Amino acid sequence: MKNPSSYSTPLPLLKRADVVVVGGGPAGACAAIAAVRNGVSTLLIEQYGCLGGMMTLGMVTPLDARTTRSNQPFGGILEELVQQVITETRQYSGGGGKDHHLYSSPHVMKHVLVETAVKSGVDVLFHASLVDVVRRGDEITGLVVHTKSGLCLIEGHIFIDATGDGDLLARAGECFVTGSEPGVLRGLTETGLNKVHEEESSYGEYEHSGQMQPVTIMFTMGNVDLERGKPLINRKLKYADIGITKEEFLKLPYANTPGFQVDGDELPLPQGRVLFFKNRRQGEVVVNMTRVTGINGTDALDLSRGEVIAQLQVFHVIDFLKRFIPGFENAYLLESGDVLGVRETRRLIGRHVLRGKEAIQCTPFPDVIAHGSYIIDIHDPQGRRKAIGGEIHGDCYDIPYRSLVPNTVTNLIVSGRCISTDHVAHSSTRIQGTCMLTGQAAGTAAALALQTSCPVANINVPQLQKRLLAANVRLRVPAPSEARKTDDPSLAVLNAL
Ligand SMILES: Cc1cc2nc3c(=O)[nH]c(=O)nc-3n(C[C@H](O)[C@H](O)[C@H](O)COP(=O)(O)OP(=O)(O)OC[C@H]3O[C@@H](n4cnc5c(N)ncnc54)[C@H](O)[C@@H]3O)c2cc1C
Repeated sequence: MKNPSSYSTPLPLLKRADVVVVGGGPAGACAAIAAVRNGVSTLLIEQYGCLGGMMTLGMVTPLDARTTRSNQPFGGILEELVQQVITETRQYSGGGGKDHHLYSSPHVMKHVLVETAVKSGVDVLFHASLVDVVRRGDEITGLVVHTKSGLCLIEGHIFIDATGDGDLLARAGECFVTGSEPGVLRGLTETGLNKVHEEESSYGEYEHSGQMQPVTIMFTMGNVDLERGKPLINRKLKYADIGITKEEFLKLPYANTPGFQVDGDELPLPQGRVLFFKNRRQGEVVVNMTRVTGINGTDALDLSRGEVIAQLQVFHVIDFLKRFIPGFENAYLLESGDVLGVRETRRLIGRHVLRGKEAIQCTPFPDVIAHGSYIIDIHDPQGRRKAIGGEIHGDCYDIPYRSLVPNTVTNLIVSGRCISTDHVAHSSTRIQGTCMLTGQAAGTAAALALQTSCPVANINVPQLQKRLLAANVRLRVPAPSEARKTDDPSLAVLNAL
C-alpha cells in the first residue's frame, strides 16, 4: 500500500511540443493559435472537454472589449474568431452579434475555437489537468498532468499559463497575489472614478485587503417579454417595487438561504439587483443574478461550496423572476453554466504590475502588446454595492509586455485573467476580448523567444509588436525615438535598439 500522504510514481511521457499552453479559455486558445501560426509546434492542454473556458463552460456569452471605446476593432485572432462566430451563429443557432459586444452561442464558440485551433495546427489535449511542474533552476522542464491514463509528463521549451487561476505560475513557484490591495476606493476616487460608490458611500472602504470578486453561475431564459422587465434592470429594489411585503417574501422556500437573507428594507437578491441582458434570439435573456461572496476559486473546499450554493441559487432566482418580475411570467430556463464563474483569483506579480490608475488614465507603455477598453468593473467582494468602477478616461489603455513576464522563471509567459495587474486594473483586463489579445501576444512572444533562443524577458519587443501588427492586431506602438527615452531598466531591450 502506498503511503497515504506522499508517494512516488513513474511518469510516462505523454506529449512534447515547442510551446505548451495550459488552459483552453479565450486567452489559451488565442495563445496556442498565435504560437503555431508563428511556426512552432504547439500543444494546448485543457482540463475539460471543450475550448472557451468561461466563454463556453461558464456561459459568459457577452464577448466585450473587442473594440476601442470609439468602436475601432482590436483585430487579430479576436476579430477573426468573432467574424466566424457571427456567421456560424446565424447559420446554426439563430440571432447574431451586436456592434460592441458579441452575444455568442457557447456551442458555436466551442466549434469555432476547436476548428480554428486544429486547422491552424495546434495539438489539443482535452481532459488533462495540470497538477505539478518540474522546475530545474530558473526553467520549467516539464508538466505533470492528470489524465484518464493516470499521471503523465508533458515536455516543452516555452510554457504559457492561460489557466485563469494562475495554476501554472503558482506551481512553478512564481510570485502572485490574490484579491484587493488596501485603499481600493480611495484610489478610485483619486482618479475621479467615484460615481458608483459615491451613491453608497456609507458602506465605506473594503473591510480588509485580499478580497476577491464574488462567483456566479450564468444562465439563459427563453420566452421573456423583455420590454416589460427592462425598467427594473440594474436597480436595487424594495419589497413595494414588486408589490409584496417582507412577510410575504419570508414565506418563500428560499427566503433566508444564502443570497436571500432578509435584512432591512431592501429586497434580498444574491446579486443585489435584477440583472439580465437581451440574448441573441428574440425573447431570450442572459441572467447574471446568482452570486456567492467569500469564495476563493483556488481553494478546493471553497470552490465546491461556491458551486453548490450558486447551483441552488439558479433555480431560486428563476422562481423569483417568474413570480415577481414583469415579462417573466411564462419564461423558462434554457441553459445554465457547467462550471462556476470565477471572476478573480491569483494574479502574477510580474515585471510590471499594471495599476488601475494606469488603465484608467490610459498611460502609454513603449512595450505595449495589447489594449483594453472595458470599464473598471468590480463586483463588490463584500456583496453590498451594485458595482464599483466606471469608464476609463481614453479610447483604450495599453498593456505592457512586462505584465505577462514573471520575475524568475525564464521560459514562462502569462496570459488572460492572471496577468500582472492590481485588483482595479484586473477588473477590466479580465474581460474576454482583452484576455484574447494578451493570449495572442503571449503565443507570439513564445514563438519569438524560441526562434531567437532568448529568455522570454529578453525578447526583442519591437519585433514582437511588428509580428502582432502583421497579424492585424490594432496596436498603438510608440515611435522608436519615444521608446528609447525610457529610463526603466526592465526595458533594456527597447533601449538597446
Ligand atoms: C460570472 C462572470 C461574468 C462575466 N461577464 C463577462 C462579460 O459580460 N463580458 C466579458 O467579456 N467577460 C465577462 N467575464 C470575464 C471573462 O469571462 C473571464 O475573465 C475570461 O473568460 C478569462 O479568460 P481566461 O482565458 O483567462 O480564463 P478562463 O476563461 O477561465 O479559461 C481558463 C481555462 O483553463 C482551464 N484550466 C484551468 N485550470 C487548469 C488546469 N489546472 N489544468 C488544465 N486546464 C485548466 C479551464 O478549464 C478553462 O478552460 C465574466 C466572468 C464571470 C465569471
